[in-house]
Amino acid sequence: MVDVKVQTEKCTGCRHCFDVCPVSVFVMHPRAEFPQLVDDFEVAAKFQFREEKSVAENGSACILCNACLYECEGSCITIWDVEGNIFQSTYK
Ligand code: SF4
Ligand code: SF4
Repeated sequence: MVDVKVQTEKCTGCRHCFDVCPVSVFVMHPRAEFPQLVDDFEVAAKFQFREEKSVAENGSACILCNACLYECEGSCITIWDVEGNIFQSTYK
């Protein structure tokens, strides 16, 4: 089964994944749902952290279109295909 995960401490809440995914893999959650989380300082040095975090709740629906991997400014999305190959965000 295809699976998708977001590394939450790097997620800036930019919503790019939510906006581009054609099969609604991602759901945005309020930042307040992660009170213990420490945001990644390297990402914070480059991008503004918003008041939301993305969670890949429907990873099995992923069709491997790669759109989210191009658009994820936190470089925090990882996708596993059915053969176990790993794909990661490439945003620069
Ligand atoms: S690669 Fe998968 S999770 Fe990412 S936008 Fe495409 S369908 Fe959605
Ligand atoms: S594109 Fe990346 S950084 Fe932006 S909300 Fe989605 S997971 Fe978070």
